[in-house]
Amino acid sequence: MFKFLRRSAPTVPEPVSWHAGQGRMFMTLVWLACLACGAALISQAPHFDPLDVWALPLLSLIMLSLQLLLSAGQLTLQTAVTGAFAGTAAYVLLALNHQFNVMPRTSWTLMENTYWFAVLYAAAFLVFPPRQATRLAAAILILSVLICTYHLLFTVSPLTRTHLTGASVQFLLVGGVMTVIQATLGVQRMRLLESHTAAYTDTLTGLANRRAAEERLSALTRQGETYTLVLFDLDHFKRVNDMHGHATGDLVLRGVAQVALGHLPQGGAAARWGGEEFLLILPEQRDRHVRSLLDAMRLELRHQRHGNVSGVTACFGVATAHAGEDPERVLERADAAMYTAKQKGRNDVHLADLRRTQMG
Ligand code: GH3
Ligand code: MG
Ligand code: MG
Repeated sequence: MFKFLRRSAPTVPEPVSWHAGQGRMFMTLVWLACLACGAALISQAPHFDPLDVWALPLLSLIMLSLQLLLSAGQLTLQTAVTGAFAGTAAYVLLALNHQFNVMPRTSWTLMENTYWFAVLYAAAFLVFPPRQATRLAAAILILSVLICTYHLLFTVSPLTRTHLTGASVQFLLVGGVMTVIQATLGVQRMRLLESHTAAYTDTLTGLANRRAAEERLSALTRQGETYTLVLFDLDHFKRVNDMHGHATGDLVLRGVAQVALGHLPQGGAAARWGGEEFLLILPEQRDRHVRSLLDAMRLELRHQRHGNVSGVTACFGVATAHAGEDPERVLERADAAMYTAKQKGRNDVHLADLRRTQMG
């Protein structure tokens, strides 16, 4: 439950954030890779290439093992994808080196396995963050340059050297151009992800903002999940600003955000709902659990010091959603509970179902 809620405040997202749909895509790619390896081997029968005869079955085995480990929960998708990428890169580079050893002495061009380098350069930028992908693509390119240069200088027939040099230069240039294009696109993609994160983050506290919280609540409702909302509002916060200045007020708000994050249970999320109001979205909690959680939070809030401000209090309204309940209704109940706490004298927790706990 609540796997999709992050415990901490949103940070700049991973360039590649893998999810279930991509897990299925990985499985499809594994099967396609195995099919391609099988087809390549069958097409060579009965005269198998000495590299392919062991490397292709090994590559298929690696892919299938990664898929199995992933399905068993022993690997993360990122690790599986990294393993698949490394296996494929190793094979493609070995095959590049190998083709010079087995090409006919009259061959004027490179063999078809060089086509796969384009896939490798593009895949690097899908699998890794742009900087890492650029380094990997550059490493693959440098290794390709070394392999081609060695063979052009020392192993190819003088008859075909000029033509093979032309073919190799074209092949390597395509690699260079692919890397530059992908790196440029990768940087743009990172910027897009950063602005996406900024749009969902409260700039003052670093917590999720109201928009992010609203989307989380909608997602929970769509998935039929139940959850417990805690809406809390700092008591007499205007006085803090008036007495100590707005900058100190900001400091207090940041401190409150840290306290909220520090007390979140697994799968919970904290958001700044607006001004000096915060929202906790928690996996459905029993009353006594939510009480003890808020108790601990209130204790820490009271003992926090920010400049001359020693501790703050707040009113907490708690409401638990029924499966499929409109989040606005749940928020209304939490809000009403919070205002009841205000009316009753502040520094209090109130449960929406009217069970009230005084926590002095
Ligand atoms: P109550 O106990 O009834 O909630 O009283 P209160 O003073 O907390 O509530 P009121 O709504 O009167 O004031 C909220 C204050 O919160 C006023 C506003 O200046 C302050 N505030 C809102 N956002 C920020 C912020 O980003 N930084 C700072 N420093 N203050 C903020
Ligand atoms: Mg207030
Ligand atoms: Mg308020």
